[in-house]
Amino acid sequence: MQIPGHIDPVTTGTVPLRSGNRVDLVGLTREGIRAALEEAGLDAKAAKLRSKQIWHWIYHRGVTEFDAMTDIAKAMRPWLTERFIVGRPTVVTAQVSTDGTRKWLLAAADGQEYEMVFIPDADRGTLCVSSQVGCTLNCRFCHTGTMRLVRNLTAGEIVGQVLLARDALGEWPKGTMASSADIDDEDDDAGHYTADGRMLTNIVMMGMGEPLYNFDEVKGALKIVMDGDGLALSKRRITLSTSGVVPMMARAGEEIGVNLAVSLHAVNKEIRDEIVPLNRKYGIEELLAACAAYPGANNARRITFEYVMLKDKNDSDADARELVRLIKQYRLPAKVNLIPFNPWPGAIYECSSPERVRAFSNIIFESGISAPIRTPRGRDIMAACGQLKSAATKPSRAELDRIAEEKQAALG
Ligand code: SAH
Ligand code: SF4
Repeated sequence: MQIPGHIDPVTTGTVPLRSGNRVDLVGLTREGIRAALEEAGLDAKAAKLRSKQIWHWIYHRGVTEFDAMTDIAKAMRPWLTERFIVGRPTVVTAQVSTDGTRKWLLAAADGQEYEMVFIPDADRGTLCVSSQVGCTLNCRFCHTGTMRLVRNLTAGEIVGQVLLARDALGEWPKGTMASSADIDDEDDDAGHYTADGRMLTNIVMMGMGEPLYNFDEVKGALKIVMDGDGLALSKRRITLSTSGVVPMMARAGEEIGVNLAVSLHAVNKEIRDEIVPLNRKYGIEELLAACAAYPGANNARRITFEYVMLKDKNDSDADARELVRLIKQYRLPAKVNLIPFNPWPGAIYECSSPERVRAFSNIIFESGISAPIRTPRGRDIMAACGQLKSAATKPSRAELDRIAEEKQAALG
């Protein structure tokens, strides 16, 4: 696929092979599983049936061993085990914040590391999922942007985060599926267990990376997450956040159809060029026009504009008024999320004062647009927005500047 922009993401390889030559089925489409089974020697009819059963076990029941797939003939299970795995990312560390937020550092099969965060609230539980190891972009307030190493995550590595979260939260349906352990070709019997009251209710593509620079894999993963026979999360409970990759926004709306969040963070060219360097390529007007054209956005499904509050940078009353003017000019069904800046080692910005954030919020609210102030979550374990970074080394200020310069030069 042709990716817009000078900063081309690293293309991903095929599905990683793990545990010898066994193929990981996680991340494949149903059709992909069927094709893999057929390639391994099953006839077309058997491959079709088994792929449907395996899909259900992987995504509805969270099973990782073929031996536990009780509606598949006992004799076939070792055959599957020899050839395939149902993988999970490796957990390197798992941390819990004093506010209940959890963060996992995960390792892919090739050793690349990325992070995932779970944020429990009274009425929902949100999983913040990464789309890349690092990020090719270099927003000046974002820790992930300081990582030099970047690779796209595969669909399997993206959906693997959701599976792992369900494992960790103990949220797979309980109970047995069939009365006999070896009934062949039997339809699934959903009546034997309940799946209510889960903690993981929402997904945000707001972890490490720019999801629209990894469109195909993100789309593949979210299609699996939304599939009715499986994780079955509604598109209304999934939000994709972009820093403004304008040429991919319409496709995101048409082909994925989830809620859109846009990292706006500034209302004029000078400041946005500085803090979100992608703005030099796709400016504010172009970005807001793409938002106005985003398929599926309406007053019931608003676009979220994220706005990080940086002291003396983007937080004046005039900035708030300009934000309102822009939203009205483009007739955007919008809400604004004000995110107090989360600090990280070496960051050059400070968070606006609580009074300043409140005043900014009030101006927007008074115009009739919702502008809640986000409570920072998981700051004590560096799990809050923009704090994710997997490499253990802390670059020096000079090194950070060098990385920023490299990435900006690549932007043209
Ligand atoms: N790359 C995507 C999604 C990941 S970032 C994007 O940029 O939209 C999720 C949100 O956290 C973005 O709005 C991002 O700008 C914001 N963010 C980054 N660093 C931050 C920081 N230090 N404090 C607060 N928010 C930050
Ligand atoms: Fe990348 Fe988003 Fe961080 Fe910008 S804010 S550097 S786009 S992860």
